[in-house]
Amino acid sequence: MAEKRAKTPISGARQDKQYENILEEMHSADRKSVFQNALQQFDDAAQHLNLSSDQIAMIQQPRRVIEVKLPIRMDDGNIKVFKGYRVQHNIARGPAKGGVRFHPQVDLDEVKALSFWMTFKCAVVGIPMGGGKGGVICDPSEMSQSEMERLARRYFAEMIDIFGPDRDVPAPDVNTNPQVMAWFLDTYSMHKGDYTPAVVTGKPLELGGSEGRVTATAQGVTFTILQAVDRLGMKLDGATVAIQGFGNAGSNAAVLLKGHGAVIKAISDVSGGFVSTDPAGIDPQVALDHIKQNRTLKGFENNPAAKVSKYNNANDLLTEEVDILVPAALENQITEKNAGQVKAKIIAEAANGPCTPEADAILAKNGVFLIPDILCNAGGVTVSYLEWVQNRMGYYWDAEHIFMDLKRYMDNAFSAVYQTSTKFEVNMRTAAFIVAIERVTRAAEMRGLYA
Ligand code: GLU
Repeated sequence: MAEKRAKTPISGARQDKQYENILEEMHSADRKSVFQNALQQFDDAAQHLNLSSDQIAMIQQPRRVIEVKLPIRMDDGNIKVFKGYRVQHNIARGPAKGGVRFHPQVDLDEVKALSFWMTFKCAVVGIPMGGGKGGVICDPSEMSQSEMERLARRYFAEMIDIFGPDRDVPAPDVNTNPQVMAWFLDTYSMHKGDYTPAVVTGKPLELGGSEGRVTATAQGVTFTILQAVDRLGMKLDGATVAIQGFGNAGSNAAVLLKGHGAVIKAISDVSGGFVSTDPAGIDPQVALDHIKQNRTLKGFENNPAAKVSKYNNANDLLTEEVDILVPAALENQITEKNAGQVKAKIIAEAANGPCTPEADAILAKNGVFLIPDILCNAGGVTVSYLEWVQNRMGYYWDAEHIFMDLKRYMDNAFSAVYQTSTKFEVNMRTAAFIVAIERVTRAAEMRGLYA
């Protein structure tokens, strides 16, 4: 132990370098640039608008990119140096807004793309916020709670002047949760000397969090699916659903969709994909109980209450015979390789960036109705905005009020995007970008950001 404690930050940095090299190899092998995909989506929409090249340059590229080294004392006494990012993509319509992700696959390209999507997501739902996103390269499944706490606090402390209720307001994302937001809030408040709940959203209720924030993303996903089935003359009651990813968005969507009578035919997480052997489908509560005991869905096929078999390849879930497919995991899942085999009539993007532009073209050709991420999963940031409003006025609404407001935002956004898709004869993704780009450009122009 004493020997381990003697290790210097330099050896930690070397480990970090090695780790980075492995990650870099992993990325170049199987990941197309997510930011390139995002820019492609923008270009597909921008061609329908009369934008100058200066305007395009102004709103395509991030305004600010920050990278920090985060040396953390691990429980075994070693120091490990992590890397963290924050990208503020655009602040024309309000302070930067967006989550912080803790994941081994985080990289700058991804954080840029995610912050880009936040700008347009906030614009689509019409909340007065810009776009930002953060990420730390780490593997929370291998970290203790106290290591996570030190990492979260160090990240926030390094960025203390970047964040602020009127500057940049983070929130949870993949592998971060209300507890991490509580550490962010405490770190900020200790540095500033004032209790400042509005500096982060997605906080625990006890610290000024909002009713309904935990299930907000899934609620929004469900509202948009209800709109889509209605437009397509389908019914959610009895419709079959496959959900990729069983984190906050995926698991809560399973519960809510089942509540509307949908049959959850297949689910997956990092441990694999599982398809129901029961016509009534998977009970999300059984899956949640399994995760509570085992951390993941590992061994779910052997759980007698589950009634599922395991796919040989978890990606088979994406091409399962279902009415609705909900990708709720990471980017680049539906690509030119598997898009042609998708059988779902509706894809509801609970994740950010799950479909590549090549996949979009194939899906559109095959008549799949796509609810794009910047619309579909905007429920999370919408309730984040409502949380920020409550923090600033010091008065708190009940869950009923929150969900009523959220439904109004989501239904209005869906209608605006749907009408635009009909008017311009484009798919829902391009329509969502048309609506959002117009709003961001107008705000930027009025502020004189091109002056
Ligand atoms: N991380 C979520 C997203 O991608 C929520 C962001 C927020 O609430 O600011 O939309």
